[in-house]
Order: sequence, then structure tokens, then C-alpha cells
Amino acid sequence: MNIVTTIRSPNYTDLDIPVEFVVLHFTAASLERTLEIFTDAASEVSAHIVIDRDGSIYELVPCLGGTAQRAWHAGKSRMEFSTNGDSQLIESFNDRSIGIELVNLNGNLFPYTEAQYASLFGVLERLKGLYPGLARPEVVVGHEQIAGFRGKSDPGLCFEWERLFAVCYPNLGAPRRNQVCRKAFVEKMSGLVRALGITVNRASGEVEIPEGVPSSLFEHLSALSESALSRDEV
Ligand SMILES: [Zn+2]
Repeated sequence: MNIVTTIRSPNYTDLDIPVEFVVLHFTAASLERTLEIFTDAASEVSAHIVIDRDGSIYELVPCLGGTAQRAWHAGKSRMEFSTNGDSQLIESFNDRSIGIELVNLNGNLFPYTEAQYASLFGVLERLKGLYPGLARPEVVVGHEQIAGFRGKSDPGLCFEWERLFAVCYPNLGAPRRNQVCRKAFVEKMSGLVRALGITVNRASGEVEIPEGVPSSLFEHLSALSESALSRDEV
């Protein structure tokens, strides 16, 4: 597995965290734009790992060397977990998780690539070997499962959870992963994307954006869907 470690994010706390969870995200931007955001101190966001459409892996915040620093990817977050019948509310996932960003303009609209799944599964195997806390499938969650109340909807409806659990946690079952985006909402977003002439190349799986349409559209679409789907009172 070839991992790029020459690009680092300044956006993390220099503090070893206990690794109890993995949180999956989509970037809502191209690889270049994602790296630009995550290496900009002013953005105050980062993830440990970014996986591009071609499967390339970038380790922006240390976590593959046996210890993990605290990256800033989950924000305000919470999820109910049951262990041996006892239910427990887990909060502040940045304190206890590794964040993996998959490059996708919108994971509720566009599929992930085979190369991304292969790299993601490889990274998860490696992390499981380093951190015993990751031995059970329940601890791999999406941002939408822990921050859906804030309108987060990543990795989204196109992410194949069952496949991840079958490959990375064979015979251990597939925990439910309810998604935040409703079908009707996805249809409206698809209508907007189609009206702008944006298509998916069937052969390569790549999203083709006509000239004149800024790719930052998808960052705006993500922000829009976040506020539309938010159930937070604040
Ligand atoms: Zn996210």
C-alpha cells in the first residue's frame, strides 16, 4: 500500500488519542481542493486520511505509525452504543476516532470507485492491526450517524456499508447505518445537477462538469443540504 506522507495538515491537536472508532466522510470537493482546505491553518479542519478516486492514500495527520494524533474532522457529535447489552452515549468523536475522507463531490449522488473501496479496506485492515479497539464492526461509523442532527450526510446513500462489513469484518454481522438524506431530497439535488449539465461518465465513473460551472458548486450544495437537513436547535 503506497501512502503519501509528505503532505501534512497543521489542523490537529498534538495529543495521542485512544482509537476506539473510525469515522467515514466524503470531501464534497476534488482532491486538490481538499488538500488545499486541510493544509490551510485558517480552515481549522482536517482528517487523518484522504483517499482519492484513483485509490491514492494521503496521511495528513499521523495515525498509521502506531499512535494517532487528534484530528479535527467530526465536530459536535454523538451516538448511542451498546456493549454487552449496556447502552452508552458516546460524544466528541475527535477525542477517540480516526477520520477518513473519501474524495466524492457528493456521496448521496455519485458512487465511490472500486479503487477507493480497495484502499479503504486496506487502510482499515492496517488500522485494525494497530488498534485493538477497532476489532468489531460497530465502531466503524459515518459522519452522518454521529452528526446527522447537524445535517451531516456523509458518506451518504451511495456508500456500500454492507460490502465494507462483509470484507473487513467477515461473519461479525452488519450494523445498521441509517442515512440522513431522504430519497426525495436526493431527487431534487439530482434535478439541479442534471439541469446544470453535470453527468457521470459511465465508463470511468468520473463526474463531468461543463465549462462555466464552478466545481465549488458542490461545496455550496453540501452546505445547503447541511442546513436543510439539520435538526439542531442551535
Ligand atoms: Zn464529514
